[in-house]
Amino acid sequence: MVEAGFARYHSPEWIGEDPLRWPRMFAARDDREVAAFLASILAYGNVKQINRSLGDLFARMDRSPAEFVRGFEPGRSERALTGFKHRFNDSVDLVATCHLLGQMIRGWGSIEAFWCAAQEDACDGAHAGDIADRAGRFIDAALSLDLEPYAKRVGSPVRLPFLYLWPRVAGSSAAKRMNLFLRWVVRPDDGIDLGLWTVEHPRDLQFPVDTHIGRLGRYLGATRRKSADARTRREITAFFKRIDPDDPVRFDFSLCRLGILKRCPARARIELCEPCELKPACLRHRELSRRGGAGAAVR
Ligand code: SF4
Repeated sequence: MVEAGFARYHSPEWIGEDPLRWPRMFAARDDREVAAFLASILAYGNVKQINRSLGDLFARMDRSPAEFVRGFEPGRSERALTGFKHRFNDSVDLVATCHLLGQMIRGWGSIEAFWCAAQEDACDGAHAGDIADRAGRFIDAALSLDLEPYAKRVGSPVRLPFLYLWPRVAGSSAAKRMNLFLRWVVRPDDGIDLGLWTVEHPRDLQFPVDTHIGRLGRYLGATRRKSADARTRREITAFFKRIDPDDPVRFDFSLCRLGILKRCPARARIELCEPCELKPACLRHRELSRRGGAGAAVR
């Protein structure tokens, strides 16, 4: 059933307004990687806001996000970002972010190489910990780069809106945006994900748990939890690992489409279940059926 839903929705024709469309607009690997990172960290809020902000941001980067951050100089380059705003993040957070990304690209060549360096000796094939641990080391290493030009403006310790773009992913956090970025760059290029990194394997990815994945995870019996946190993420990932041990997160895009395209809205209606491939396995469908036929609707 899940495979049938995958076959139906895991297709580039459904990318639509997904933030993934932004990195896919660039042809070069380094542009895609930088654009994917920026698009993922700003992927919060409603989809219209996200796309408006990303369109604004990439227009300021003069066709090459990688070139923009590679040549980023405090002072001179900041002007290009003046006035940028995405909900509670402003140009100060973005210039500091570009300054960090610039150091990574100039010093290590790519975000992937920096990720690897952040693991110290763990990138020789014997990865230490799980991918959340490695993401934590990546964020720690990024925040230990030079932030001096922005120390006064981002505050010391750095202010919360900036840290929202560079979140500590350890502990109970669902780390949705970091797991989204990793899905995009680690999964093979199948017309949806980008297949940019080889340092991590798709089998180690974890679900970026958003409202759609949380809900559909409950419908399929992957979890009973309503909070989008690390435990829910691990439970949902473990469920899909039983279906595809080597690539559990490949179901993320197709499941999200059910919610985004309102094929399975939050207020479920039994008539919408008719064409749904998940119906035989869906606990919510069973509940709707028990409550009685056409028109039955529950949250
Ligand atoms: S509630 Fe209905 S539409 Fe939603 S996943 Fe279950 S079967 Fe599909």
